[in-house]
Amino acid sequence: MSASVRGKHVSGAEGIVPSDRVDAFIHDLLSRARGKAAGPDEIVLSIDSLDGVSIRTLRALDVVTLGLSGMEAGRAAAVTVLTYTGVSRRAAAEAISIISRGAAPSGENMRGAMIIDARTGERLEADQERGVRVTRFGWSAGEEEKTARKLEERGLSHVRTREALALATKGAFAPGLIAELCWSDDPDYTAGYVASPVLGYVRFPSLKDFGDAKGGRAYFVSKERFDETAFLAYTRTEAVLIDSPGLCRPEVSPDEFLRALETAKGSPVR
Ligand code: AMP
Repeated sequence: MSASVRGKHVSGAEGIVPSDRVDAFIHDLLSRARGKAAGPDEIVLSIDSLDGVSIRTLRALDVVTLGLSGMEAGRAAAVTVLTYTGVSRRAAAEAISIISRGAAPSGENMRGAMIIDARTGERLEADQERGVRVTRFGWSAGEEEKTARKLEERGLSHVRTREALALATKGAFAPGLIAELCWSDDPDYTAGYVASPVLGYVRFPSLKDFGDAKGGRAYFVSKERFDETAFLAYTRTEAVLIDSPGLCRPEVSPDEFLRALETAKGSPVR
């Protein structure tokens, strides 16, 4: 589902559901689209059959929240965490700067994600307005509820956390992906995350100020090794179902988290 107001994208959502749940799911998506403060003047729904498409199953990424308050501290810690995944400080800072000023050439939010060279910060996506939209991911029966309960035990009850976790889980296994950085464009939702197949889903309570409607996603890859065809085939075409929850760890201090990374992996990229 993609909803827009005067040509400006305001909300979107995806899912994979059994055929007997399609009608109910469409109903949920429409309520979501209409629930936005600015009622959309266009809602586009696209429904594909996955008959005959092979479905890959993944375990949800492990989730940890870093105990931090404020946007500045959150962004600084996100940059540091990204350097442990292989992203340079320069590329991480560039992604933050682009998302915070509106990543589309018009200065609006993009519909999809940027692809950024992890060394230089260069943007690699062909269409900077649309970016890369990851589709065809969802939960096996009952798994979303299981994950929701685990997240709730850690005080994470917002539906956005669950949705972002599903998207980050599919994204983490994209060919050549080094890490993802994201924060929402919802002005009321300030949390964001860094995700990678190695680190899991590392959540920062605040990557922007309350009321800020700028948000976005950046996928970091190595330009030299990036295979765009394989990346797009995976993100757009391959279907992924999350068939088991990951761990939801208690909140940790950033120092504690970084010490553990250093012990496990060595030095960050500068
Ligand atoms: P959201 O977390 O839904 O507020 O989305 C934040 C930003 O991430 C949006 O402004 C888009 O730029 C991007 N985005 C949202 N959904 C997707 C998706 N399915 N695939 C790639 N990027 C997305």
